[in-house]
Amino acid sequence: RRRAALAGSWGPGRTADGHAVPLLANVGTLADALRAAEQDVEGVGLFRTEFLFLDRQEPPSLDEQTATYTEALRAFGDRRVVIRTLDAGADKPLPFADLGAEENPALGRRGLRLSRAREDLLDTQLAALAAAQSATGADLRVMAPMVATVEEARWFAGRVRAHGLASVGIMIETPASAVRSAHLLDGLDFASIGTNDLTQYTMAADRMQGELADLLSPWQPAVLDMVQMACEGGSTTGAGVGVCGEAAGDPLLALVLVGLGVSSLSMSPNKVAAVRVALGLHPVERCRELAGLALGARTAPEARDLVAGAADPIA
Ligand code: PEP
Ligand code: MG
Repeated sequence: RRRAALAGSWGPGRTADGHAVPLLANVGTLADALRAAEQDVEGVGLFRTEFLFLDRQEPPSLDEQTATYTEALRAFGDRRVVIRTLDAGADKPLPFADLGAEENPALGRRGLRLSRAREDLLDTQLAALAAAQSATGADLRVMAPMVATVEEARWFAGRVRAHGLASVGIMIETPASAVRSAHLLDGLDFASIGTNDLTQYTMAADRMQGELADLLSPWQPAVLDMVQMACEGGSTTGAGVGVCGEAAGDPLLALVLVGLGVSSLSMSPNKVAAVRVALGLHPVERCRELAGLALGARTAPEARDLVAGAADPIA
């Protein structure tokens, strides 16, 4: 079985019993996207678009954005590409969208909150995405960062659909959106859990602060509870819930995430092969058992140890 799994270290992500788990790339620039398109991934699960906006005095024009998105979409052919709208503000300030200094930038007007304050920026970005989509016929999906309420989710979906874009989702990065995902995802097409921010906000620990690494482990049982709740909510609405935070690239944790009900995994392209092998060794029911072990643990190290001890060895 192990040999079969290793032989299957290319191609689509599947558990040992054939349950499909698309393996996607996280990309942060056009060059990244073009490189990822050459690799054995099923598409892009997170295209961070900040690179177009940071370190400049004026926002990127409609034409510049359209050209960039078109090139990226074209490279992926009929593979899915999930593009996240601008996730700036706060600690990633933009000279052309200065909302003023904030005491707690991570809790301030960042992500979708900035888009709501500067609708013009979002509208230009969505118009560019719509133009790129119609030029390529690509499987484009658009999602918002840092959503916390039903009003925000509905507002975003309305803006996206007004531009004729068919597939709209949100990132689940706040505990509010994880525990209320059934309500937030009602009427949406998909969600993607950002475990970096979801861990930061669940544990109240700054993700930039290295000394807090223990608190910031995505193995923290409280974070796993959040993931489980997000998936349960998604399943009541039919919206698939993926993961695009760093956790998705850890083969052991990927098994747990699939066991919790996560429907796709997006990660740095160099992590995909190992995750594919791990999935190929475990039927989905084993993933559920591993998830049960992790949820039953009292600490993050205990969760990891229990899962490492029970999973098939993943070299
Ligand atoms: C996350 O928060 O997990 C995420 C994927 O988004 P970013 O790392 O860009 O905040
Ligand atoms: Mg994030």
